[in-house]
Amino acid sequence: MAINAPVIIAGAGPVGCTAALRLAQAGIPVALLEGLPDLPETLRASTFHPPSLDMLDELGMAKPLEAQGLVCRKYQYRDRRTGEIAEFDLGHLAEDTRHPYRLQAEQWKYTRLVWNELCEKHAGLAECHFNSSVKGVYQTTDGVEVLVWQNGQEKILRGSFLVAADGADSAVRKAVAIEFEGFTWPEKFLVASTPFPLETKFDRLSLVNYVSDPEEWLVLLRTPSLWRVLIPTDPKIEDDALWLSDRWIQDRLHHMAPHDRDYEIVHRTIYRVHQRVAKTYRRGRVLLAGDSAHINNPLGGMGMNGGIHDAWSLADKLIRVHHGAEAGPLLDLYDRQRRGICVRFVQEHTINNKKLMESKDPDVQKKRQAEFMRAAADPVLSRAFLLKTSMIQSLRDAELIQ
Ligand SMILES: Cc1cc2nc3c(=O)[nH]c(=O)nc-3n(C[C@H](O)[C@H](O)[C@H](O)COP(=O)(O)OP(=O)(O)OC[C@H]3O[C@@H](n4cnc5c(N)ncnc54)[C@H](O)[C@@H]3O)c2cc1C
Repeated sequence: MAINAPVIIAGAGPVGCTAALRLAQAGIPVALLEGLPDLPETLRASTFHPPSLDMLDELGMAKPLEAQGLVCRKYQYRDRRTGEIAEFDLGHLAEDTRHPYRLQAEQWKYTRLVWNELCEKHAGLAECHFNSSVKGVYQTTDGVEVLVWQNGQEKILRGSFLVAADGADSAVRKAVAIEFEGFTWPEKFLVASTPFPLETKFDRLSLVNYVSDPEEWLVLLRTPSLWRVLIPTDPKIEDDALWLSDRWIQDRLHHMAPHDRDYEIVHRTIYRVHQRVAKTYRRGRVLLAGDSAHINNPLGGMGMNGGIHDAWSLADKLIRVHHGAEAGPLLDLYDRQRRGICVRFVQEHTINNKKLMESKDPDVQKKRQAEFMRAAADPVLSRAFLLKTSMIQSLRDAELIQ
């Protein structure tokens, strides 16, 4: 049965945008609703993994995004104590992906590209609205009635399905009473961004670097205009003002790389880190995707990328429904595949990443770095490692779930 009433999508983050464009390109009407008056430009995800780039390419978005980003062909695990650098070359994935590299580009550049594409090329099929906050949903036998607070007024929009891409605090997930199971880490993460060329302070620094240290681990990520430094804070001290202060940030940056004056800090943010997965990704005609369905710590860059993979899988199933397949079994399959892979792979991998990075045991750190060095030096081990960390393996494994 063709989908004639729009698929309503709550939230124009990277996940809602991906779902909307994929569906519109397949000829399915969509209504993309963003609660804010404009697309947010906050600095959040900045790494697009190879399989996400393959998907963006099919949408026609990879090239324009690449024009605004930095291609990262190699990334590093560095041991600050010994100075050892394990460098992984994504070129080992040349047979597995059309994009054997990470793209360093801010997520807002992607959402802006997609929003414009929807408005300019798909205006007949895609309605895009700002100031439109989804508040609730009522399901009928053949559709959804969505309560929206739009430009200061209540409205009911009728659609075929509702995709909850409204982020970690999802109003839709709460409205359909889906539990968000998991836990919150005790410490917060600080991200400080500087235009200073940090590559001048380190030997052979790559664009993405995970740096272990018995006292304080950190992550160094390059975006087109800034270096972003991610540092954990002390869980015993609940004092955001301290963590965000010039004094503390300068102290940490000088500890990382001594400098004869203060670093210029153009952006700083502190946030709590969680590991949570929704109990189900499906409640009838309401489907969760992205942060509304799962959240994890940012080590490995799997949050936004996993969400884009959800949007892809869900859109694929809705396209099959549009061409006559029965909705129920396919949408249950979406839940089994994407939730299954999130619990089995993404959560496990990101939790392990964090535990290994923060271990203060010198033997654990030594063993971990030795494993990285061995894998980075061996093409077969490198490929196996990169298939996992780039999330290609998780997509292949999800396809095997029936
Ligand atoms: C500092 C930081 C760094 C990160 N780095 C990485 C990284 O390197 N790689 C990675 O993969 N991930 C990273 N992440 C995670 C990544 O940002 C998220 O996983 C990603 O944004 C999820 O996309 P989303 O579209 O599901 O949700 P969001 O990006 O949160 O988008 C949700 C959208 O919905 C809108 N909205 C909210 N409620 C409603 C409503 N009721 N109705 C309508 N609209 C609504 C919001 O305004 C927003 O525009 C990072 C996160 C943070 C905080």
